[in-house]
Amino acid sequence: MPVQNICVLGATGSIGLSTLDVIARHPERYRAFALTAYSRLDSLLALCQRFNPRYAVVANEASAEHLAAQLAAKGLETEVLYGEQGLNDVAAHAAVDTVMAAIVGAAGLKPTLAAVNAGKKVLLANKEALVMSGALFMDAVRKSGAQLLPIDSEHNAIFQCLPIDYARGLAQVGVRRILLTASGGPFRNTSLAALASVTPEQACAHPNWSMGRKISVDSASMMNKGLELIEACWLFDARADQVEVVVHPQSVIHSLVDYVDGSVLAQLGNPDMRTPIAHALAWPERIDSGVNALNLFDIARLDFVAPDVERFPCLRLAQEAAATGQTAPAILNAANEIAVAAFLDGKLKFTDIPRLIEHVLGEVSFTAADSLEAIFTADAEARRQAHLWRA
Ligand code: NAD
Ligand code: MG
Repeated sequence: MPVQNICVLGATGSIGLSTLDVIARHPERYRAFALTAYSRLDSLLALCQRFNPRYAVVANEASAEHLAAQLAAKGLETEVLYGEQGLNDVAAHAAVDTVMAAIVGAAGLKPTLAAVNAGKKVLLANKEALVMSGALFMDAVRKSGAQLLPIDSEHNAIFQCLPIDYARGLAQVGVRRILLTASGGPFRNTSLAALASVTPEQACAHPNWSMGRKISVDSASMMNKGLELIEACWLFDARADQVEVVVHPQSVIHSLVDYVDGSVLAQLGNPDMRTPIAHALAWPERIDSGVNALNLFDIARLDFVAPDVERFPCLRLAQEAAATGQTAPAILNAANEIAVAAFLDGKLKFTDIPRLIEHVLGEVSFTAADSLEAIFTADAEARRQAHLWRA
């Protein structure tokens, strides 16, 4: 088998680094062909030294010149590109086989779509891209023949528990429900009163997973589960009422599929993103990911409880946006990105995150999400309204 060229969008992030860890275990299979980063230039330089990619992509021209000079000083031949064009170019590059879409937030949509439109094997971590543009995105996948594999651990688990021909329709393949598990995050047992004064550090200290700061806050507010519900609907052509959220604090079962005959299939594993990454990279084969074998005796017990939408209104807001459709999920996502950034900056209370999002959803009108222009117009208006909001 020829070595596959991998483009890692968001190489310096949590998913990007886990992807490179798996790639490094299989040099006979995978080569890091292009690595992209936004702010952590030192980290990107170190990755270039280690993986010697053909391309590196950074945010702007000044960063590109800076990195190029450092690479040249070390005798490396990596070519440096920049900006949106640079991201799109590497994602769609003729020599690239597989694209890991691991940029966080709306910034990942265009390069991920560029990979889809170029018919690549696309490993999707960037859930916000699909939440914003679901119908358009899935249409592009069908038209281009791109192979879309979910990296989000829950969706990767669901994919593993579904039959190979699930695209015929969930009812056709005998699926009754998808059970989407949630850890409940660091504030699973925190009272509503105490939630008002939690800090970014507390929100980012996830009990089971080590992740980037934005998704960590999303996990703490349960917006992550809301975004994942929308993501599941698009990936598996499910209605929102076919996806049930189950809080499972141990994060050992990554999700389940309930069939009409009463069978329930689950995928289990230690909470380490290298498992879904290795699964998707090698699919339909299996490769070592570096993750330890699951020890059920150490885990001993698995718990399940229903989610509490009183304390975590973000989940309800996402469910409503999923039911509304059109640009509502894009507006929800954009408002959430602004709210999370403000919370991380110490400028917004944790409990104001859902309040701000609900306000923005009431201010921006929904339109058909049938073009990138319509989606980015809604996204921009939502961000504008979010900035205007004062608690
Ligand atoms: P992170 O913050 O650790 O990394 C984000 C990456 O995106 C970095 O490489 C950064 O340089 C790049 N980036 C940020 N803003 C950018 C911009 N404007 N333009 C271009 N690049 C930009 O995030 P993460 O935790 O690795 O998450 C990445 C994506 O994967 C998110 O969509 C997240 O929801 C999803 N995801 C993450 C995990 C996890 O365990 N970390 C699990 C499931 C899904
Ligand atoms: Mg997840």
